[in-house]
Amino acid sequence: MNLILMGLPGAGKGTQAEKINDKYNIPHISTGDMFRLSIKEGTDLGKQAKEYMDQGELVPDEVTIGIVRERLNKEDCRNGFLLDGFPRTIAQAESLEEILTEMNEAIDYCIHVEVPEEKLVERLTGRRICPTCGTTYHVMYHPPQEEGKCDKDGSQLIQRDDDKPETVKNRLAVNLEQTKPLLDFYEDKGYLVTVDGDQEIDHVFQDIQSKIDK
Ligand code: ADP
Ligand code: ADP
Repeated sequence: MNLILMGLPGAGKGTQAEKINDKYNIPHISTGDMFRLSIKEGTDLGKQAKEYMDQGELVPDEVTIGIVRERLNKEDCRNGFLLDGFPRTIAQAESLEEILTEMNEAIDYCIHVEVPEEKLVERLTGRRICPTCGTTYHVMYHPPQEEGKCDKDGSQLIQRDDDKPETVKNRLAVNLEQTKPLLDFYEDKGYLVTVDGDQEIDHVFQDIQSKIDK
């Protein structure tokens, strides 16, 4: 199954991606995670991406499309994949169509996780992640068993630099502007399914399953 997860920052894409990955066994491809890893490793890609990410701006299309093309051509994507955080612009969506056509593949569903804007600031500023395994928590809505420590490996949880209140506002503004045309793009293609993301994490997942298991 070839899936795209769409939604504003904080909507719950990464959280649902972990669950989809567990159940359907398809690789979770997050452009944000790929950029963060490159920054940590100090690669050229990381250096390029960092300036934009620190401002809450999008990384330029040619850079982003390049890394996705390379990733989708890896063997483990033959049985499906889950894109999270890509595409974010119409140019990216069009390139994705071309990449998939070259691979003789197509998107099955674009899952839009919908959450009212006013809830997103709280979700983003309360988000904590495990720097070792990438698991996502929330200080209030999805706390770890022991405060500040990952349930899976005990690492000290961290806050992403771009989840600080100063950056969050700009990220939301940038993404709000870009998201609507993308939803229209996938609606026109007939791939779009929408789930209410403003419910408990497990209920959101149940809704996703009921839409894609048809
Ligand atoms: P969130 O999980 O909050 O939606 P991401 O981890 O997906 O955030 O993205 C973090 C940052 O990485 C974005 O603000 C942007 O700078 C960059 N980024 C991620 N995906 C893309 C993309 N498809 N196009 C351009 N920039 C991207
Ligand atoms: P995205 O990848 O779309 O930016 P995340 O999956 O990282 O979003 O979720 C953002 C924050 O909100 C995280 O702290 C996460 O634990 C929390 N969260 C995710 N889904 C829900 C939900 N349904 N209800 C409450 N909090 C949630």
